Amino acid sequence: MEPPDIERLDERTVQRIAAGEVVERPASVVKELVENSLDAGASRVAVSVEAGGTEGIRVRDDGVGIPDDQLEAAVAEHATSKIGDIEDLDRGVATLGFRGEALYTVGAVSRLTVRSRPPDAQAGAEITVAGGDVGEVRPAGCPAGTTVEVDDLFYNTPAREKFLKRTATEFDHVNTVVTGYALANPDVAVSLEHDGRETFATEGNGDLRSAVLAVYGREVAESMIDVAWTPDGAEAGGVVDDAPVQRVTGLVSHPETTRSTREYLSTYVNGRYVTASALREATLAAYGGQLAPDRYPFAVLFVEVPAGDVDVNVHPRKLEVRFDEEPAVRDAVESAVEEALLDYGLIRSTAPRG
Ligand code: ADP
Ligand code: MG
Repeated sequence: MEPPDIERLDERTVQRIAAGEVVERPASVVKELVENSLDAGASRVAVSVEAGGTEGIRVRDDGVGIPDDQLEAAVAEHATSKIGDIEDLDRGVATLGFRGEALYTVGAVSRLTVRSRPPDAQAGAEITVAGGDVGEVRPAGCPAGTTVEVDDLFYNTPAREKFLKRTATEFDHVNTVVTGYALANPDVAVSLEHDGRETFATEGNGDLRSAVLAVYGREVAESMIDVAWTPDGAEAGGVVDDAPVQRVTGLVSHPETTRSTREYLSTYVNGRYVTASALREATLAAYGGQLAPDRYPFAVLFVEVPAGDVDVNVHPRKLEVRFDEEPAVRDAVESAVEEALLDYGLIRSTAPRG
């Protein structure tokens, strides 16, 4: 057999392969767009999707906006306003995005429109990208802030389109993502709409319990118990600088308010939504024998660790984190939840606690 020729892929093919890495399904697009809105300092983020996001996704915010002369840059490859160079990255990024690839890749595999008006600009403008073809910047009437519309996701990548699941399944993923950000940002009014029907809308009043009420309903919100843990030696609300865990806060449900899956155990590390099995296990361990078999509580837990002890500059799709001091983090979360349940009179302390 003759060895085949090695040829360089054309730019379009490279672009679409790369897009598949970041954009796996509608929920991944929603994640990127919501992160952009939060990075833009929005106080309202309205997400609406059609057919689970496969036919249309729209995210509207009231953030800082994009000036008309920046719209082209916003949809260009490796273009970001968030970091300047690798040193910025080493210093640790405060924003959720920084790779400058989301709008570019979404534009490669859909029909994308970005419409925006910075609050102090007289008029707005929009740009459209269809399957990687970037159109002209045109004037557009719009409220202050940014609206991003994504239609016909994967219309030009049939292989990827084939992997999409039923509409209901895709919407579940979208719902999980938007719920995650809504609970992480109780000071932002986050809403979600599916095929014209509102799924939930948080008030954005800064109160976590009120966000839980909007997302999970009254029964769950009323069963939630406050978690507020700091390491020994911390003043109320203060921080012990060299402690491996600085704070654990949030809400956990009464052990009788449960569901049959673990998906309502939401954990955040330094404000980022993560799926760390260590955190879930520590939470469950704190309930001890209080939970019925195969039942799982609701939890919204924020864990703060020193920035250098956890790696967040990981792959865009990865939600797992690795802690330098995992046993300490586990212990802190377990103590935090245990203390909360104990204060509420639900579990009996079996050993002296320190
Ligand atoms: P990244 O978020 O990694 O910078 P993106 O492709 O997601 O890359 O966005 C590119 C740039 O477009 C951002 O850096 C930001 O300047 C601008 N941008 C995107 N979405 C918004 C938004 N909703 N509001 C304001 N600016 C935005
Ligand atoms: Mg982004």
